Amino acid sequence: LDLPDPDVVAAWPVDIAPPEPGPESDKYRRGVVGILAGSDEFTGAAVLSVGGAVRGGAGMVRFASVPHAVEVVRHRWPEVVTAVIRPRDGVDQVGRVQAWVVGPGLGTGADGEALVEAALSTDLPVLVDADGLTILARRRDLLRREAPTVLTPHAGELSRLLDVEREIIEARRLEHVRRAAAELSAIVLLKGSTTLVAEEDRPVRVNPTGTPRLATAGTGDVLSGLIGALLAGGMQALDAAAAGAYLHGLAARLSSDGAPISAFDVVSALPDAFRSLAE
Ligand code: AMP
Ligand code: MG
Repeated sequence: LDLPDPDVVAAWPVDIAPPEPGPESDKYRRGVVGILAGSDEFTGAAVLSVGGAVRGGAGMVRFASVPHAVEVVRHRWPEVVTAVIRPRDGVDQVGRVQAWVVGPGLGTGADGEALVEAALSTDLPVLVDADGLTILARRRDLLRREAPTVLTPHAGELSRLLDVEREIIEARRLEHVRRAAAELSAIVLLKGSTTLVAEEDRPVRVNPTGTPRLATAGTGDVLSGLIGALLAGGMQALDAAAAGAYLHGLAARLSSDGAPISAFDVVSALPDAFRSLAE
C-alpha cells in the first residue's frame, strides 16, 4: 500500500449522509435504480447487486435481464420490479429510473455490450462494474458522455481499462486511481485492501471502514447495487461512491465480528450500518 499523500487525499467526509426520507417522500422520489445484470450462466451476482440496492434505500429497484436471471431474482426479491429485456432494444423498455447499474454477472459478449452501451447512452448517472468493465476496456468510446459515470474496478479490472499490468497498479494504487479518473472521465472506485475513490481535480478519498473479511466472492456485487441506490437517491456521484464504500465496509465489520462472512451477510447487515451511521 502506498501511503496517502495528505495533499491529494481527503480526510474522510463524515458528513456525507445518505438520503433520508421525509413526509413528502414517495417511492419514485426516493429514487428508482435500474439494474442490468445476470445472464444464463451467472445469477448470483444479480441477486447480490439487487440486494445492495434494496437494502441501500432505493424507493424502487427495477431489474432487467434474460428470463432465467429474472426468474431467480424474482424468487429472492419479491420487492423488485423485473423485466425480461432484449438487449438490442435498449433500456427504455425497462421503465423510468434515476440511475443505472450495469455489469455484475452480465457476461462479456455482444448482449452485455449492447446493455452497457444503452445505459451509457442515457443522460443518467451510470455505475459500471464487473463484466461491464471488461466490455468498457474495449469500448472506451462509450465513456464520452455528460452525465456522471462511476466505475468500480478491482486492480485486475483497472489493469484492462488502463492497459497497465496489474502488479504495477497494485504497487502504486493511488497514482493509478487518479490517472484512471482523469483518463476515463469518471469517478473511479478502486477496490482491494484499501478502497480509494477518485474524481479528476478532487482529493482522493480513502475508505477507513474496509476489512479483509470482504475478500470473498460476491461482495463487490453488493457494493454496485448499494452505490446505485445512493445515486438514484440524488447523491452526487463522488459522495455516493464514497458513502457506499463506507457503509459496505461497516456492514461487513458489523456482520463479521471476528467470524467469516458471506456476501449475503453484507446485504443483511446494511440496515445495521445505516443505523450506526445515524447514531
Ligand atoms: P470484487 O473484487 O468485485 O469481488 O469486490 C471485492 C470487495 O472486497 C471489494 O469491496 C474490495 O474492496 C473488498 N476487498 C477485497 N480484498 C480486500 C482486502 N484484502 N481488504 C479489504 N477489502 C477487500
Ligand atoms: Mg467484482
